[in-house]
Amino acid sequence: MPLRDQTDPNRIKPILATITTLNRPPVARCRLLSSGLGSSHMLKTFDDLSGSKACLGCGCCMDACPILMRDPKRRLLTEARTSLALETLVGDDCDRCGNCALACPQVDPTIKHYLVGTLLAEGMAELLAKASTDETYILDLILSY
Ligand code: SF4
Ligand code: SF4
Repeated sequence: MPLRDQTDPNRIKPILATITTLNRPPVARCRLLSSGLGSSHMLKTFDDLSGSKACLGCGCCMDACPILMRDPKRRLLTEARTSLALETLVGDDCDRCGNCALACPQVDPTIKHYLVGTLLAEGMAELLAKASTDETYILDLILSY
């Protein structure tokens, strides 16, 4: 649902690199760097939300998070399904897989493609290397299929 003219990730490379090296969920920051809601959205509202970078409360980022998948008890702490809830429930346990940013409808595809092609590709290589020695990472790989 983003705008047709989306953020050029090459112009914000250093910021994206910083975001994806933090042990914090990257989705909200990637959302705020994106173009915002496109005018063709199908949300039930008469307000002009074009360009809004607000969280839609869809919960897609929470559904995609392996930390919450591994530890579902965390989800019971709140009914909210927002990026703020993800930040609260995961915090610095985030393992920087990037799934939340890839799942968010408010993050520009241009940014998603950049993350997959660069920073997340490096993270996946790291994860695969660890998979041979750490059962937790093996579980993450299985759950991602
Ligand atoms: S989906 Fe991945 S990057 Fe996002 S909060 Fe969960 S562990 Fe962190
Ligand atoms: S996936 Fe949905 S809930 Fe998560 S940050 Fe994006 S809009 Fe908000």
